[in-house]
Amino acid sequence: EEEDFQVVYQPLMDASGEIASFEALLRMGDRSLSPLEFIPVAENSGLMVPIGRYVLHEVARQLSVWKGQNLEVKPVAVNISARQVYEGNLLETVVEALKKYHLDPSLLEIEITESILIENSTFAIEELGALRKMGIAISLDDFGTGYSSLSYISKIPIDILKIDKSFIDNITGNKRAKVMIESIINIARAYSMSVVAEGVETKEQVEMLTSLGCDIVQGYYYSRPNPL
Ligand code: C2E
Ligand code: CA
Ligand code: CA
Repeated sequence: EEEDFQVVYQPLMDASGEIASFEALLRMGDRSLSPLEFIPVAENSGLMVPIGRYVLHEVARQLSVWKGQNLEVKPVAVNISARQVYEGNLLETVVEALKKYHLDPSLLEIEITESILIENSTFAIEELGALRKMGIAISLDDFGTGYSSLSYISKIPIDILKIDKSFIDNITGNKRAKVMIESIINIARAYSMSVVAEGVETKEQVEMLTSLGCDIVQGYYYSRPNPL
C-alpha cells in the first residue's frame, strides 16, 4: 500500500547476443531483504495474491510505456506463486492487466515452478492451458531441482524450460553436469520447448552452452537485474 515495492528487469539473451526477453524480479524497500526471504513471508501471510497482482500490473504498465515510446518491445516474464493460481484467480488478473494497458498477450510470459502441481493439479493445468491458449508462454523455472520434475513435463503445458543455476555452475569443470544439461536440452527439443540457462556468470559457460545448442542464456555475465 505504501508503494514500497519495485520491479527490476534482467535480460535473457539469444544465441546471436540480442535481447530475447526480460524477467521481472521484485524488490522491496531498501533491498535489505531478498525476495527469497520476503516472498515466503508474503505467501504465508495472505499477501502473495495482492503483491503478485501488483507485479503483473506494474509489468503491464511498463510494457505499455515501452510501446508508447515506439521501442521494439520484448516479452517480459513474471514469476507466479502457486498461491496466485489457487487463491488469486490468476487468469482474471492477467486478462484485466492486459486489457487495462491494451497489450498483446504474447508480450507476457509466466514463470512457474513445479510446486504449482502440489495441490489440485487438474485445476492448475487448466488455468495454465487457458493462459497459453491466449498466447502467453509458460516457462518452467528451476528445472532439475525438486521432485519428479520429469513426470510434470508431460503433464503441464510448457513452452520454455529454465535449467537451474546449480547445473550451470558446474558445467565447465564437471563432465556429469555437462551431460545432464545436454540431456535436458534433448528433452526440451523432443517436446518442442525452448531452453533457457539461468545464472550464467562466465564467458566459458556461455561458450559451452552455445556449443550444446542452448537457445537462450540469462545471468550476471550479460546483466544483473536492473531498475529502469
Ligand atoms: P528465480 O525466479 O529463480 O530468479 C532468478 C534469481 O537469480 C534472481 O534472484 C536473479 O537476480 C538471480 N540471478 C540471475 N542471474 C544470476 C547470476 O548470474 N548469478 C547469481 N548468483 N544469481 C543470478 P532474486 O531476484 O533475488 O529472486 C530470487 C527468487 O525470488 C526468484 O528466483 C523467485 O523465485 C522469487 N521472486 C522474485 N520476484 C518474484 C515475484 O515477483 N513473484 C514471485 N512469486 N517470486 C519472485
Ligand atoms: Ca524465475
Ligand atoms: Ca530460477
